[in-house]
Amino acid sequence: MQSLCILGATGSIGKSTLDVVRKNPDLYRVESLTANSNINELLLQIIEFKPTRVVVVNEKAADQLSVKLKAHTEIDAVDVLHGEQALCQVAQDMNVDMVMAAIVGAAGLLPTLAAVRAGKKVLLANKESLVMSGELFMNEVIRHNAILLPIDSEHNAIFQCMPFDVQKSAYQHHFADQGVSKILLTGSGGPFLNTPISDLSCVTPEQAVAHPNWSMGRKISVDSATMMNKGLEFIEAKWLFNASAEDIEVVIHPQSVIHSMVQYVDGSVIAQMGNPDMRTPIAHAMAFPQRIDSGVKPLNFFECKDFTFTEPDFARYPCLALAIEACNQGQGATTVLNAANEIAVEAFLNNQLGFTDIATVVKHSMTAIGSPRAESIDDVLAIDNAARVVANEWLNSNKRQGYMNV
Ligand code: NDP
Repeated sequence: MQSLCILGATGSIGKSTLDVVRKNPDLYRVESLTANSNINELLLQIIEFKPTRVVVVNEKAADQLSVKLKAHTEIDAVDVLHGEQALCQVAQDMNVDMVMAAIVGAAGLLPTLAAVRAGKKVLLANKESLVMSGELFMNEVIRHNAILLPIDSEHNAIFQCMPFDVQKSAYQHHFADQGVSKILLTGSGGPFLNTPISDLSCVTPEQAVAHPNWSMGRKISVDSATMMNKGLEFIEAKWLFNASAEDIEVVIHPQSVIHSMVQYVDGSVIAQMGNPDMRTPIAHAMAFPQRIDSGVKPLNFFECKDFTFTEPDFARYPCLALAIEACNQGQGATTVLNAANEIAVEAFLNNQLGFTDIATVVKHSMTAIGSPRAESIDDVLAIDNAARVVANEWLNSNKRQGYMNV
């Protein structure tokens, strides 16, 4: 029986993780759950999974949750904590074997790092933490003997297609020594793959979050529509698999059945396939190196539509081009890219920014700040903060009444 801490339990990945636990009650026990403020969902999870500790971000939400819990006399005592330190505390708890890192955005960095520094088995969904802190993060994984397993469906697919020796320590050896020549990172192209480029400035948040194949949180859904998500994944793949930018190629595959591929020097290409459902990579990582039931329907090839593959069009997806540029510039630039993107996506979701301006904000911030060197996590946080200031300044000076779909 392995005990689990789920950071971001009330989100899309958190709920899928709990569903895998639900299917395998003899294998996994939930020790702790965390959320930002969604105490209603958290309460339902506490009732069903009976964790020992839960964390929410602010004190008011913690108080409200404690009041609600008092009404449920059937529930055993559960510690209700709040704040960032408490998120780190549950992630490094000695009673926890495995940590699902599924907080969205930069807020996930410190709790995920806490799990790494405690030498846990870390299931990494929060790609932003790796994009922000790249080399520093991977050095901590190695120093603390943590086990890092990718949850992003693409990286999980790449991991599964890699030779076993690479799987054991992908981030310490170069895969070329094992006969691998290239990582083929697939992406659906999102909801606007065939929308005329001239119409993109007018698309609404509701259209942007309506992904054709995947059901995900709002931030990553917008990132998928701009293909910034693929850009973040490009940077994530570089760190997870100790690759260079030349080793990675982005391939548009609108059907989302192949989740990524690995090409070998002998001409073989190994692909991982499955229905687009995050419970597959989650179950894979939870059970690795065993296999467990994820609850995902088996792939029916007779129902699959054509498999198609195209090159990304950077005029349609400028955010992807910016992410690859940042990856080439260095870790400081990827921290800036991530922070500016978070600010821009939030503004877009709040109808304060046009869809195509997301790339403008990111580019402006990258040009203004460049790629400062980060020697420590404090440096990373300072760069992240500086990028947020620059991006917000741009927003404040360009925002106007009735900007977009308001
Ligand atoms: P959601 O928005 O659905 O969920 C985010 C979770 O993080 C929620 O539990 C939320 O709590 C919590 N949270 C939000 N802000 C904070 C904060 N400031 N501090 C602490 N907790 C916070 O996101 P997803 O589940 O879609 O994505 C989570 C991560 O996984 C992201 O990094 C994403 O890129 C990655 N990922 C997601 C995939 C998917 O299919 N969804 C696929 C691959 C990667 P509350 O509910 O209270 O707001």
